[in-house]
Amino acid sequence: MALSGLKVIEFAGLAPGPFAGLILADNGASVIRIDRPGASSSDILCRGKKSAAINPKIPSGKAALIKLLASADVLIDPFRPGVMERLGLGPEVFLGTGNSPGLNEKLIYARMIGFPRAGPHKDMAGHDINYLALSGVLSLLPGTTDKPSFPINLLADFAGGGLTCAMGILLALVERGKSGRGQVVDADMVSGSRYLSSFPLLGQVSQSTHMLGPRGSRLLDGGAPFYNIYTCQDGQWMQYRPDSSLDGWVPTPDTQFDRDEWPKLKEYLTKGFATQSRDYWAKVFHGTDACAVPVLTPEEAAQLDLSRSPLPVPHPRIINQSQGSEILKSVGSGSLALQPGQHTREILTELGLDNAQLEEMVRDGAIGISKAREIAEGNQMDFLSAGFIVNFEDAFRHFFRISHAIRVQLITITASKIPPKYTMSKQFTFEEVAKHNKPGDLWIVIDAKVYDLSKFQNLHPGGVSVLSDEEIAGQDATEAFFALHRHEVLEKPQYKRLQIGVIAGEQSIVKAPVPGEISKVPYAEPSWLVDGFHSPYFTEVRATITTENSKWRCASLWTSIYTPKLRHALHPYPHDSTHTFSQIKEEDGTRISQELVDKMTALNFHAMRLGPGKHLKGLTLMNGIVKPEEFDYFHELIINQEIARCGARGYGDGLLSGKVIGLPPVLNFGSEELKARVIPEVLQGKKFICLAISEAHAGSDVMGLQTTAVKSEDGKEWIINGTKKWITNGTFADYFTVGCKTEDGFTVILVERGEGVETKAIKTSYSSSAGTAYITFDNARAPIGNTLGEEGGGIFVMLSNFNHERWVMCCSSARAQRAIVEECLKWSAQRKAFGKPLNSLAIIRAKLAAMISRAESTQNWLENITYQMCNMSYKQQAGKLAGQIAFLKAYSTSCGQETAKDAVQIFGGRGITRTGMGRFIEHYHRTIAFDALLGGAEDVLRDLGVRQALRGMPKDARL
Ligand SMILES: Cc1cc2nc3c(=O)[nH]c(=O)nc-3n(C[C@H](O)[C@H](O)[C@H](O)COP(=O)(O)OP(=O)(O)OC[C@H]3O[C@@H](n4cnc5c(N)ncnc54)[C@H](O)[C@@H]3O)c2cc1C
Repeated sequence: MALSGLKVIEFAGLAPGPFAGLILADNGASVIRIDRPGASSSDILCRGKKSAAINPKIPSGKAALIKLLASADVLIDPFRPGVMERLGLGPEVFLGTGNSPGLNEKLIYARMIGFPRAGPHKDMAGHDINYLALSGVLSLLPGTTDKPSFPINLLADFAGGGLTCAMGILLALVERGKSGRGQVVDADMVSGSRYLSSFPLLGQVSQSTHMLGPRGSRLLDGGAPFYNIYTCQDGQWMQYRPDSSLDGWVPTPDTQFDRDEWPKLKEYLTKGFATQSRDYWAKVFHGTDACAVPVLTPEEAAQLDLSRSPLPVPHPRIINQSQGSEILKSVGSGSLALQPGQHTREILTELGLDNAQLEEMVRDGAIGISKAREIAEGNQMDFLSAGFIVNFEDAFRHFFRISHAIRVQLITITASKIPPKYTMSKQFTFEEVAKHNKPGDLWIVIDAKVYDLSKFQNLHPGGVSVLSDEEIAGQDATEAFFALHRHEVLEKPQYKRLQIGVIAGEQSIVKAPVPGEISKVPYAEPSWLVDGFHSPYFTEVRATITTENSKWRCASLWTSIYTPKLRHALHPYPHDSTHTFSQIKEEDGTRISQELVDKMTALNFHAMRLGPGKHLKGLTLMNGIVKPEEFDYFHELIINQEIARCGARGYGDGLLSGKVIGLPPVLNFGSEELKARVIPEVLQGKKFICLAISEAHAGSDVMGLQTTAVKSEDGKEWIINGTKKWITNGTFADYFTVGCKTEDGFTVILVERGEGVETKAIKTSYSSSAGTAYITFDNARAPIGNTLGEEGGGIFVMLSNFNHERWVMCCSSARAQRAIVEECLKWSAQRKAFGKPLNSLAIIRAKLAAMISRAESTQNWLENITYQMCNMSYKQQAGKLAGQIAFLKAYSTSCGQETAKDAVQIFGGRGITRTGMGRFIEHYHRTIAFDALLGGAEDVLRDLGVRQALRGMPKDARL
């Protein structure tokens, strides 16, 4: 094959980059896609490629990437300008500059961007339609008189982008063959679209007659009757471009091009085609030079294609004239999906890394190794790896013999793109549905909606046989469905479109969860949110705020991230539910976007999370629904509980928990100059801060800290040395509130990221979205003015932080327990065992009773303590509430652990399965231990509570 032996590294991207890589892979190149560790991929342009998940931001990951690229022939960079340079992987690193040599001077460095690299739009995000708009080509396309239409994303993404980039790579390879030197291929989709539109654009410039007139009146944009599409009697279309006569009417060359005659000619053809079906006309024109052919569906077109494959096969075909044989390229479905990191181990082992190194890299987050079995390969791979199959007959037989399953899948994939035959409002009876009860003709009813699964049945993750069961096929399968699936499955677009109608006279009763809506499930909400209940703490005003807050939660935190750009990035999950975005982040482990931080800033969210106080003065909180002077700990409680609702523990901490514990020492103990400088930029989300107290040597025992701070000779700076461990948000923090051992005891110092400060991600059981870090201070320096509180008074600073930190954790714990109660109540009602719902078993009800009691008692104790906080000064809180809060935290986290254990028992195997029905239970159970550790371990806190109580014992108390 033409490109055999060519090594290509393709950084994962969308549409054009993957298509360029696909063209190279289809022609024999070995293409490795570089994914982010933990990422998911919806890329379907990955035939024949491998995937290595490598993080270039982690030093060992970057080193591995550089090694890979040092021996590669081609790199495909799909990022915006500057990204590769910022990663230290720019062209100069490999191709060299001036006198300094590069690491691989033979590399073809292909860069694929949207807007021209040097133009005014270079840093903007964009999509196919945007590039097309700026290319000038969109304005020339057909449409209506007032606006053009666009040919999905074919023109800019694939033709002007991917194809052009691949052509650039081939040209550069030819050039390298001559000069021996690598090249940079600079492709952008605006310029690419312009170039491939040379014909219409040159036509414009030269005032060619075919480009004259307004849209819809020109030769090729639907103006000419003989270059058009006509609807036939059966609603299908004929595409017509006659060069000679048509039955019964003979246009002369003069009238054919006479624009004044066009309306008449068009009407004549419209009426004529409408008299017969498409297939009738197809027969009439077939074999003539009239240039009229039927408009085929993708399925029909596949039948006509030489390959008979529903997947488009690589093109052009390369023909070996001397051997007199055609080489037909084959495709297979085994390569429709490529799991990120599927081949990391294999690729890096080939590069010379051993197992121990790989394990360490996994621990550091430098690489991801997908454990997923190589998807649907096995004997299908034999077929795929055959690559070229020289004889068409062989290819055809091979395809149908070996890959019957693939074929069915492929046809289904194509068929699903065909417009549905039925509208959603089409009504059926149960009797009608019952007739479709066989493989290949299989309908079912779920919640009064009718789904046609005939083509989906082979793709059903649970297998075909489940659907063919006589109690399912053609039947009302509502109960069976909800015993195995979460409702959101039905909301996914790929399944939603299987719905073909509804059952006449029946109503759907299952309600999709609406983000921000108050749950009606008993105990799923605290009592003050439940109709008919009352609260001494939550006044009507607060309840209103909460309702607003719920809306605000979904508006600001979850839904608003669906800006077009992010929606594009989150393509597989366009249908948001309360949890979707947080779940994605929890899985992919990436940090929250600046965009989301900014949205939170706009509501002064960061400031509110520090509780009531002077820092709120003059701010507009939550768009003005609460005044700064009215804001109290109950408002903050609402915020903490709303964050916890997302059911994604690491992501929740990634929403800047580090600031909640790291900024108060600055606020309460920093100098005025320091506060003026640091607080605004943190509260505005421009800089990030974390609290760095714990060390490998000192967690519960703060007195054991070993990080030292000594003064510089001139007395102007602290010089800090030591390490810190498990620091939330540390990987991306700009400021570190650091507990240090100093000459006079302990001192807390604000250290800024810079020379001598290094952070490394620590992999924990929850998402690296939280930014949990190991920090090294190696002669790091901080001005003496960055001292927080008294020199030697650090213990007081550290302890004063604890009450608020622990109370915040109690808020989250109470809310998280409630979410688990809701999951368990729903599941035990819909899951049947031994023919009865789980909740009919006394042992299950006993577990539910214990869970509900724990959630309710935690919340009620929490509200009482919150009320005390609202009525005490900070100092009084420190004196009177330290024990209470320590007890509450130990109580709520031990309740959480009990509840997690019970929930897993109720969910059975699903409770330990990361996806599907029990995914929230699995996550909760996996991460619940965190709460019991951070902010003070349970045992330590119970002991603290009792010691505080003993200290407060009246001297005269006797039995
Ligand atoms: C996810 C996560 C995030 C964190 N974020 C931060 C952060 O942002 N900043 C920060 O500074 N730290 C952070 N920490 C560290 C956290 O504060 C410590 O883990 C915690 O203080 C416990 O310390 P340790 O893990 O070293 O356990 P150890 O101190 O080694 O204790 C282990 C166990 O021994 C028992 N024990 C210890 N001492 C006593 C005692 N006196 N009485 C009774 N039992 C005792 C307890 O059961 C305890 O769980 C985080 C930790 C985690 C897991």
